[in-house]
Amino acid sequence: MHAACVAGETSEPSDLPHGAGGRIMAAMMQRRKFGSLGREVGVIGQGTWQLGRDRAGPIAALRRGLELGMDHIDTAEMYTGAEEVIAEAFAGRRDEIFLVSKVLPQNASQKGTLAACEQSLRRLRTDHLDVYLLHWRGSHPLAETVAAFEELERAGKIRAWGVSNFELDDLEELAALAPAGRPVCNQVLYHLEERSIEPDVVPWCESRAVAVVGYTPFGGSRFPGPRSAGGRVLEEVAAAHGATPRQIALAFLARGAPLFAIPKAARVQHAEENARAGAIALSAAEITRIDAAFGSARRG
Ligand code: NAP
Repeated sequence: MHAACVAGETSEPSDLPHGAGGRIMAAMMQRRKFGSLGREVGVIGQGTWQLGRDRAGPIAALRRGLELGMDHIDTAEMYTGAEEVIAEAFAGRRDEIFLVSKVLPQNASQKGTLAACEQSLRRLRTDHLDVYLLHWRGSHPLAETVAAFEELERAGKIRAWGVSNFELDDLEELAALAPAGRPVCNQVLYHLEERSIEPDVVPWCESRAVAVVGYTPFGGSRFPGPRSAGGRVLEEVAAAHGATPRQIALAFLARGAPLFAIPKAARVQHAEENARAGAIALSAAEITRIDAAFGSARRG
């Protein structure tokens, strides 16, 4: 479930540095290789689902996020209006962002994928995507979508391709027809109360250099409150780092390869808070503590 954003808010006062200070913050963002790609990407990126009707706030938030090192920008043809907002936010700065978009399953025939990509490129006002994803599995044969992805890659319209919402059996089926090094990522639901990818999808991806990009990292309205047992653990770990519980949650969700997290923020203040999570390195003991507080018992 996606939490609704508040339209109309633009920017809030910030105590984080801009300019040279912002560049120092960006340098503190941990970066890691994105799957089999050589390119290093910030471990915390920026989602763009439901950016809101007001453009000024999200544009300011996206720009501030990039300034602080969140260069991974996630969008989709499904996110009405988001691709256009990204185009406006990063006009003239295409090379600074790692741009990911997605084709809807109902468009993912061979011809449909090619056409959908052209439309995303036009809305994004760019000539290429860094990664193009199948949003989730639909009825078109995977082989058709893969053939289109490969054609787009050969044409230089995408640098690489990946998938989203693929479970282990989907990944196995895909691996049988994909060339070496593809897919480069699997974008999946991952937050503290939903860790079902950990036992199988994450190890499968890690062993094949496939990036795992966790979406909805705050769990919609399910972010642990300060009175819950898990929330108290987050508060305590956060206090030790001079951080917030949400920053600790993001740091946990992107705690090592092959993990990345892509929170969405339509407000500058939220983008700043999220970016700082990329500089937090949790100790092994802290990871064990959070793991236990939101542990396998809940996964059933
Ligand atoms: P999310 O990032 O977990 O949560 C977004 C909500 O959290 C918004 O209401 C946002 O408010 C708020 N927020 C952000 N930073 C905050 C902070 N520091 N403190 C308090 N609140 C904060 O949920 P999501 O948008 O569902 O997921 C993130 C991205 O993942 C999406 O935008 C999309 O790009 C991607 N996604 C992919 C799929 C898929 O099927 N592949 C599915 C869902 C999502 P404001 O906006 O007001 O700042």
